[in-house]
Amino acid sequence: MEERKSPPQVACPACGKLVAWVPGNRYRPFCSERCRQMDLGAWAAGEYRVAAVEDTDKLSDQES
Ligand SMILES: [Zn+2]
Repeated sequence: MEERKSPPQVACPACGKLVAWVPGNRYRPFCSERCRQMDLGAWAAGEYRVAAVEDTDKLSDQES
């Protein structure tokens, strides 16, 4: 019955702060909307860079 008083906690992927994993926390696993936005932005930037490099490599390979 102790689990009802202490919900599981996860570390925010953006800042490492411990966040209570509860249905009321709409930003989980992040601690706040700011951290969620930061992480999404970093992920999108990384994906874009990888995709661009891969695309350029394929193009040059086909032309030569
Ligand atoms: Zn955070």
